[in-house]
Amino acid sequence: MDRTIGVDVGGTQTRVAAVEGGHLRVRRAFPTRGIREVEDAIRVVLAAAGWPKPGTIGVGAPAPLDMRAGRILTCPNLPGWEKVGVREELGRAFGCPVYLANDATCAAIGELAFGGRGRDFVYVTWSTGIGGGVVAGGEVVWGATGAAGEIGHIVLQAEGPPCACGKKGCLEALAGGASLARRGSEALGVPLSAQDLVRLAQAGDPVARDLVLTACQAVGQGLAIVHEVLEPERIVLGGGITRSWEFLGPHVLFALQGMARTPPQVTLTPLGDDAGLLGAAVLPAYIPNEWRGPQT
Ligand SMILES: [Zn+2]
Repeated sequence: MDRTIGVDVGGTQTRVAAVEGGHLRVRRAFPTRGIREVEDAIRVVLAAAGWPKPGTIGVGAPAPLDMRAGRILTCPNLPGWEKVGVREELGRAFGCPVYLANDATCAAIGELAFGGRGRDFVYVTWSTGIGGGVVAGGEVVWGATGAAGEIGHIVLQAEGPPCACGKKGCLEALAGGASLARRGSEALGVPLSAQDLVRLAQAGDPVARDLVLTACQAVGQGLAIVHEVLEPERIVLGGGITRSWEFLGPHVLFALQGMARTPPQVTLTPLGDDAGLLGAAVLPAYIPNEWRGPQT
């Protein structure tokens, strides 16, 4: 069986796992820092799995990438990762092929390979940022450079709040966890995480409720656009913010149903936090040949 390492570099947490035959053997999670910390975590995971070296390494990251070179370009959500040659660094350290892709596309691959949610869906991650990955007829839709499905950067308000990508009024700027935390902290005058803000909204705080319900409406609007463009069999949601789906879900679905002509099927991923990690681990089997690039 293939022994692969999956790495999911999130805006907040990084997860590293040893995966064999589709099963997570060992995993580690830690606050996102730099490539050195990823390298250290891979060594820890390899030692715990009893593997001398990995067969391949797949890395998902929430940043604009050069997939062919396996390099991160800019990194609005990842301080310290600008222009990091992930393939070069990890390939040199571990002597195996390394592949890099958008983290939400990795989560869509995880869903396709392990989630049992069919062959025609859009995966949307609602977390620190908002990302997406498209699967049509069992095939990953990559786009021209691997950036297809970036639902978080659909502009919903031309003069809305600034987004980390440099534009204004993107879905991510209206509803992403980092944006909610920042705007909630400013509005309430105390440092708050997005989860804190959601809890306050749930408890009836009017300021928190206004911010969170506006975010739900924006997510519903974003999903309605996705549904109208692609008409997937279903939209699969994951990411840290969706842990509060019981509270948020009805608001998102109300907005979505008001904006889509036919009611889309929306489900949460059964893979929880592991969708991106599992997808990164099996990324080598899905990545287009022309983006495999020169490997170590
Ligand atoms: Zn943006």
